[in-house]
Amino acid sequence: MITGHTRLATVIGSPVRHSFSPAIHNAAFGATGFDAIYTATPVAPGDAASAVDAMRRFDWLGMSVTMPHKTDVLAACDVVSPTAEALQSGNCVYWQGDSIAADSTDGAGFVRGLASELDVDAAGLRCVMVGAGGAARAVVRALVEAGAAEVVVVNRNLERAGEAAAHAAERGRVGSTTDLVDADLVINSTPLGMAGAGHETAVPFDVDLLRDDAVVSDLIYHPAQTPLLRAAADRGLRHQNGLAMLVFQAAVAFEHWTGIDAPIEAMQSAVAEAL
Ligand code: NAP
Repeated sequence: MITGHTRLATVIGSPVRHSFSPAIHNAAFGATGFDAIYTATPVAPGDAASAVDAMRRFDWLGMSVTMPHKTDVLAACDVVSPTAEALQSGNCVYWQGDSIAADSTDGAGFVRGLASELDVDAAGLRCVMVGAGGAARAVVRALVEAGAAEVVVVNRNLERAGEAAAHAAERGRVGSTTDLVDADLVINSTPLGMAGAGHETAVPFDVDLLRDDAVVSDLIYHPAQTPLLRAAADRGLRHQNGLAMLVFQAAVAFEHWTGIDAPIEAMQSAVAEAL
């Protein structure tokens, strides 16, 4: 029941109405009985600081942050996590005592989703990241923090590949598709195979190059089965789509806001229904 005590959480972005976050987080609040609701708030480009100010003045529970505010929001927060600072990107704003803090939960969400869905521990793995955008940088960093042995970044723009590989420090390097043959885990972070992006039938790499025990992770979740994942399934490779990362990055945010464990199954059901 919504009462005078109910706290507010919201996602800010432009555009933002299409976001799955309200479905996921309202399901989580419902499942745990945590007294909060979650909405979507369109915030014009350049206005992230006003949203942080509103959270501070009106004691909102927290915010998710999407494009185009992920970098701007950091300057408006009192505390920026080392991950968000390194990525120059924040997707979650929350109270840390009397301070407002920003974090980037995508990478941690990926690693938790890999462990939860496929029972794959990133520690010791030789990883290849195909693509080098914002999502790739977050995941590269998290893989290394989770103990990956190596993260090789393969991308058409080599400068961006180098920037992403730098997040893995001495365990990162720029590579090519020849690195696929040795990989334990290969991740697609390009939009190739995504619905509505004009690349629906494209595959980012040839799964025939992979070992039989390699794991394939596609960050795309719409469609649920991209041509890459279909090819991985046909070869009998373990694989996952981007839903796990979507749900677990939200789980990390929920835990920042509430201090309680996220109800993963309720969040998974909500996103499956919303898709
Ligand atoms: P981004 O910053 O725009 O980066 C896109 C990357 O894909 C770049 O490295 C780009 O290469 C590469 N790329 C784009 N078009 C390509 C093409 N035609 N051929 C080869 N490479 C191409 O995007 P992002 O924010 O990192 O997102 C990447 C993907 O991750 C998207 O599919 C997005 O939906 C997904 N994602 C999923 C989640 C989740 O929770 N599951 C979260 C975030 C993102 P260049 O550098 O050479 O341009």
